Parts: sequence; structure tokens; C-alpha cells
Amino acid sequence: MGTCKFKRVMLKLSGEALAGKNGFGIDFSVAMRIAKEIKELVDMGVEVGAVVGGGNIWRGREGEGMDRATADYMGMLATSINALALQDSLEQLGVSTRVQTAIEMKEIAEPFIRRRAMRHLEKGRVVIFGAGTGNPYFSTDTTAALRAAEIEAEVILLAKKVDGVYDKDPHKYNDAKKYDKLSYIEVLEKELQVMDSTATSLCMDNNIPILVFALDEDGNIKKAIQGESIGTIITRK
Ligand code: UDP
Repeated sequence: MGTCKFKRVMLKLSGEALAGKNGFGIDFSVAMRIAKEIKELVDMGVEVGAVVGGGNIWRGREGEGMDRATADYMGMLATSINALALQDSLEQLGVSTRVQTAIEMKEIAEPFIRRRAMRHLEKGRVVIFGAGTGNPYFSTDTTAALRAAEIEAEVILLAKKVDGVYDKDPHKYNDAKKYDKLSYIEVLEKELQVMDSTATSLCMDNNIPILVFALDEDGNIKKAIQGESIGTIITRK
């Protein structure tokens, strides 16, 4: 058993993380790979909350010409589909889980009840928070920040396609420079593509560190939890 830097974490996965190479829908081999990484944390005694995005199915801003709030509610439903997919993969591995949704759908998931979520975590269950914050005009990044504050997570593990935060897009520019450390203010002032500003501000106000790292490298979540310097850490500084 390795040493853990954190006891309770919030893992944020974008919906696209579940899509695999297709870029759309759910690739179950990918969901299973992520679930295996989460299981490693659980086996180490880490309490894991998770928020999954919905971008592999639907994002509110894609609803051109639609009523924005309706399009956003569709996005929140998409996150709930992803939450169930991740739950299924985890349960197949024998990990005990609960899905809690911010929009009530009690035949398939519990409603979000903070104290109940905390008890699940204490019992070693992975709690997956679906349906975002339950409010249109927000994102699942903001959901991760909000729920992290509520469940008193020590860090947000922000899984991305790239291995940290760069000054410009590393896929487009060879000379893009990676940051090892950043402050919330730097992220906001430089308008770095990490989280949206609402989510970043919420983390700043509540002093929740954000660790940005690449999901596609096996074992990275575990490394992050053990305090290995991977990715970019965003703190107050
Ligand atoms: N959404 C919302 N309120 C929330 C969280 C999400 O309205 O609190 C909607 C919004 O339309 C968003 C979609 O759900 O575009 C999917 O979430 P997000 O774009 O954050 O997913 P990701 O980019 O992480 O896959």
C-alpha cells in the first residue's frame, strides 16, 4: 500500500474522457480503465467523490437556436447517463458506489443529500455526482468545485487530455510551455483553459487545490494521490 497525500478527493472527468477515440458516446473499455484507476485509490483507503461531464453526449451551448436553459437541462441529463456508466464499471470491479443526482430521478439514483454523501464516503463508497449543480448556465467544472467544497475534499483531481496547464495549446504549438504551479489569480488573469472562471473562483474562495493531469497515462491518478509531481498544481500560492 503506497502512502497517500490525500484522504478525500474529488475527481473531475470530462464527458469526453469516457468517449475514447470516437469522441462521442461511451466507450466501455475506456470507462473500465478509468474505473480500475479509481479502484486503486479506493483500495489505498482514499475516499473518492467523482463528477463526470456530459460533453460526449450533449453540451448546452450546442443547442443553437434552442432555449438555453432547456439545452442545459439536456446536458445535465447527459451527465447522469455518464454517471450510471461509470457506476456500472466500478460495480463490475466490486467497488461499492452511489450515484447522487442534483435533479431528482429517484428510481435510478439517490437525490443529492450532502450528509448522506459524506456517510457513503466514510464507508468507502465512491459517490458519483450526476446532473451537475441542477442549475442551467453552470458547468460540471463548477459542480466539481461546489461538491468538493461541500464534501470537504482536499483536492480536485482534474483529469484532462493534456498533462497539465500550458501557456498555449501544446497540440498546436511546439514551443508551448507547461506550468508546474500556478495560482488561481494567474489562471483567471491569463485566461488559461483550465476550468471556467466560475469554477476557478469557487476553488479560490474556498482554498481547494486543483491538480491538472493527463488521464490517458496509466497510473496517473495514483501518482497524483501519492503526491508525485505530475501535471500542474493550482493553489493560492
Ligand atoms: N450543465 C448545466 N449545469 C450544471 C452542469 C452542467 O447546465 O451545473 C450542462 C451544460 O449544458 C453543460 C452540460 O451540462 O454544457 C455538460 O457539462 P459540461 O459541459 O461541463 O461537460 P464536460 O465538458 O466536462 O464534458
